[in-house]
Amino acid sequence: MVTGGGSGIGAATARRLSRDGAHVVVVDVNGDAAASVAGDLPGRAVAVTADISTEEGVDAYIGAALEEFGAIDLHHLNAGVLGTMAPLPDVAAADFDQVIAVNLRGAFLGLRAAFRCYRDQETGGAVVVTASISSLRGADDQLPYQTSKHGLLGLVHGAAMYGGPRGVRVNAVAPGLVPTGIFASSGDASRAATVSRRGGTIPMRRVGTTDEIAGVVAFLLGDDAAYVTGEVVSADGGAFMVNTVTR
Ligand code: NAD
Repeated sequence: MVTGGGSGIGAATARRLSRDGAHVVVVDVNGDAAASVAGDLPGRAVAVTADISTEEGVDAYIGAALEEFGAIDLHHLNAGVLGTMAPLPDVAAADFDQVIAVNLRGAFLGLRAAFRCYRDQETGGAVVVTASISSLRGADDQLPYQTSKHGLLGLVHGAAMYGGPRGVRVNAVAPGLVPTGIFASSGDASRAATVSRRGGTIPMRRVGTTDEIAGVVAFLLGDDAAYVTGEVVSADGGAFMVNTVTR
């Protein structure tokens, strides 16, 4: 199960997991994008159009997945939006709420649904949440996004505590800068255009690729990470060590 699988990091994870032999459910609010990704996967796959910030949307994608495959073993809770880049005094409450609804509430609903699946299936499982370098430190122009991404760590830690005795591992990947549609969708064209250039400030001197993030997700979901839970794995070219990358 990959949410936000129609684009960017989620699409890369869907491709990686499919190549690794998984049956994949590609979930996205953009149904055409989800269908296009699912249609190109080498293995069995189904696309579901759903808004993961609502209980109805989550029920719809879980229901579709169970109908198609009978059980769900792995969840990548990845869908997210950047939202407003307004300076703090200008952040509208509605914009704040919208980012929290998708990035944090959506992840909570997805985690809850995953744990209900594992309970009903009487199986263990693994969940990876897409956090961010913005989960771990400050920036002065992305308050709603940063708040939502910090909140994800609370979800991961709480769910990992609950999941530990039940055979369910919960981890996060924290990407740095990866050129994807998320920057264009913020409505700030200049920001999208400068993302790649900012790679020069990163210790590895480049931005990341979606496949590099998908590789970390596949590791955390897989048996090589059998003793890893409640962990946040940065994949940011070392960007966390410098303080200029988010500007
Ligand atoms: P993206 O815009 O390419 O992909 C996000 C996908 O999520 C889109 O297909 C979009 O339609 C979908 N989506 C948005 N809202 C949704 C909703 N309510 N219901 C269902 N689907 C929804 O961006 P991306 O960079 O691949 O982002 C994936 C995740 O990675 C996000 O959580 C983002 O915060 C995180 N992230 C990205 C970067 C980066 O530099 N690109 C860095 C850190 C974290």
